[in-house]
Amino acid sequence: MIEMTHGSTAVQNDHGFTADQKQIFEAAEAFARRELYPLAQQMDENEWWPPGLFARIGDAGFLGVTVGQESGGHGLDYVSAGAIIQAFARWNHAVALSYAVHDNIVLDNLYRNSNANQRSQYMVDMIAGRKIGALGLTESGSGSDALGSMRTTACRDGDYYVLNGSKMFITNGPIADVLLVYAKTAPDLGHKGISAFLIERNYAGFHVAQKLDKMGYRGSQTGELVFNDCRVPAGNLIGDENNGAKIIMSGLDIERAMIAPICLGVAERAYQMAIEYSCARKQFGQPIGSFQMVQSMIADMYVHIETMRSFTYRTLSECQHRKDDTDRSILHMMTAASALHASEACNKVLDNALQIHGGIGYIWETEINRLYRSIKLLEIGGGTNQVRRMIIAGEALSDIRSVNYKTDARE
Ligand SMILES: Cc1cc2nc3c(=O)[nH]c(=O)nc-3n(C[C@H](O)[C@H](O)[C@H](O)COP(=O)(O)OP(=O)(O)OC[C@H]3O[C@@H](n4cnc5c(N)ncnc54)[C@H](O)[C@@H]3O)c2cc1C
Repeated sequence: MIEMTHGSTAVQNDHGFTADQKQIFEAAEAFARRELYPLAQQMDENEWWPPGLFARIGDAGFLGVTVGQESGGHGLDYVSAGAIIQAFARWNHAVALSYAVHDNIVLDNLYRNSNANQRSQYMVDMIAGRKIGALGLTESGSGSDALGSMRTTACRDGDYYVLNGSKMFITNGPIADVLLVYAKTAPDLGHKGISAFLIERNYAGFHVAQKLDKMGYRGSQTGELVFNDCRVPAGNLIGDENNGAKIIMSGLDIERAMIAPICLGVAERAYQMAIEYSCARKQFGQPIGSFQMVQSMIADMYVHIETMRSFTYRTLSECQHRKDDTDRSILHMMTAASALHASEACNKVLDNALQIHGGIGYIWETEINRLYRSIKLLEIGGGTNQVRRMIIAGEALSDIRSVNYKTDARE
């Protein structure tokens, strides 16, 4: 799939993509409509993950998107990665979520932070989709205050670290083979005493305590992970000991940037369905789309989607251009704002789309209902919209903050 020239002159199309990015988007869209859409209903009904799906996505060339070619990836940019996520989300948002966690939140993170040994040991199988990735930060007692309240510990014992604790709400957790997990190596140092580890599912002392039954994004597997004297080779420490907060923070910025294209894909599909229904459904002898109040809802949906699209890709483009910046305050603010805006705009689009469908939209097994049930997660996951507002205001008021106020919340 991803056969493209690098560094081509940026010929913009209507959506602001270069010709290469447009080609990637179209390939991902065709794949998602053909391969992922037919799975969506069953995934939603049964919280079912199709076995072997990551390998099929890998075979189609959609894994390792931002990983350098020297490490077996495609070496593409964050805009291209977002385009694939948007395309997948149009047709199967549960797969898009699991995909974003594997390819972006884990693989991109590992590529940026792991050493040559770790890359060669894990990345080939992950890019082929033979091994699935998950990221464990949240715990039942530490969500928004993920760093400050973290209870999972890792103690050095010879050539191993011994992990104890648990992680909650972990996407891909029940099916993951490789888990990027954060634990406190120096609890007295607060967020400066956190380290990142790669854990394999067959390590003694690790198990999945439960698979969670969700309201939306059903089929994307979510679980609770437990570490009970889990011995992890010291070679699986990612980055330096006690340097995990930096890895978490840079990862969270990219994670937030990738939330927006999921929202965009879901909103686009809902909009398309609302238009089709407005033309097909007749009341008072006319298509409901001929009524001005229905037209008003459609117009509002269009405005939300186009503003979402602009901000989503502007933010992803900034992520690419500023990826080596040491000062991350602009990215921190923009990615929080992009996720905040997209999740709230998606919520409004889905509210109108379901309203246009009337009673049938309220029925659980309809597609529009499935889309509607997706809206809350991305106002919560990766840091809630309240936390995103804290980040934006914190950066906007950073001069005051440096004098009066400091928090190590999931910022
Ligand atoms: C389906 C799903 C998948 C997930 N996947 C992952 C994953 O793969 N990996 C991972 O590590 N985590 C994952 N999460 C966890 C997610 O990131 C957290 O749920 C989220 O950060 C919120 O934490 P919490 O649920 O503990 O809520 P809490 O932090 O308890 O917040 C509860 C409420 O209080 C508000 N609040 C908290 N602090 C403040 C404050 N200072 N000011 C104002 N309001 C505040 C919040 O905004 C929220 O409304 C997932 C969650 C879900 C539901």
